[in-house]
Amino acid sequence: MNKKSETLFVSDLHLDDSRPTITSLFLDFLQGSARQAEALYILGDLFEVWIGDDDSSTPNPEVISGLHQLTRSGTPVYLMHGNRDFLMGHEFSSSSGCTLISDPTIIDLYGTPTLLMHGDTLCTDDKDYIEFRAMVRNPDWKKEFLGKPLQERKDIAKRLRNESKTSTQNKSIETMDVNQKSVEQVLKEYRAQHMIHGHTHRPDTHKFILNTKPAQRIVLGDWYRNGSVLRCTQMECRLETLNPNTARP
Ligand code: MN
Repeated sequence: MNKKSETLFVSDLHLDDSRPTITSLFLDFLQGSARQAEALYILGDLFEVWIGDDDSSTPNPEVISGLHQLTRSGTPVYLMHGNRDFLMGHEFSSSSGCTLISDPTIIDLYGTPTLLMHGDTLCTDDKDYIEFRAMVRNPDWKKEFLGKPLQERKDIAKRLRNESKTSTQNKSIETMDVNQKSVEQVLKEYRAQHMIHGHTHRPDTHKFILNTKPAQRIVLGDWYRNGSVLRCTQMECRLETLNPNTARP
C-alpha cells in the first residue's frame, strides 16, 4: 500500500486509565489515518505519567500494542519524551516499535528544516520548573528512581504531581507559556525558521520575523476532551480536531 505524502504530529495525549474514551480515540487514530501517513511524530506526554517500562497498568499494554501494530504496518513512529513520560526507555521503544528521538530534533519536513520540541524547555520564565527538570533529568536521579519498587515509584510520582499542581496554581499564564526569546534562540542555534512543539496546550500557529525572514511556530493541542492532530503535506500544515463522539465507520 502506498503511503500518502502526509506527516502527522501529536503531543500531550496524557493517556491515563481515568479517560478510556481518549485512549480509544488514540487507538482508532493509530488504526485509521496514521496507517496512511508517511510518519507519525509524538512530541511528548503521550502518557499522563510513566514510572518505568515495567509498569503494565492500564492503558499501557494496549497503547504499546496499538503502536506496535502501526509500526509493523509500515508507518514509522518517532517518539519524544515529555515532562510526564521522560522515563520511557529502551524496553518501551522495542516493544512498541517506536524510535525515541531527542529534544530538540531537526527534521526535513518536505524541504523545510523544522525543529521539533516538547516545549517545556522553552518555558524559561518558570524558574522553579527549570530547576525541577534539571533534577529529574539527571541520569543519577533517574537510575535511583527506576531502582525503587514499582509501588514506591507510584507513590513518589503521585506526590510530585500534587506538588506540581499546587505550585502551578500560583503561577501566571505568562510564566507558564513559552518565552519568545528562548524560541528565537533555539531556532537560530539550529538555523531553522520553523518549529513544532506541544506542552502548553494552546494549539495555534504563530508567525513572526526571525533574521529578517518569516518564521513560524506551530503549537499542538492536548487530548483532554478531543484529539488534536497536525497534518503536514508538501503544501501546508493543518491543525485538526478529532471528536471522540464521531464513531469511526
Ligand atoms: Mn508537557
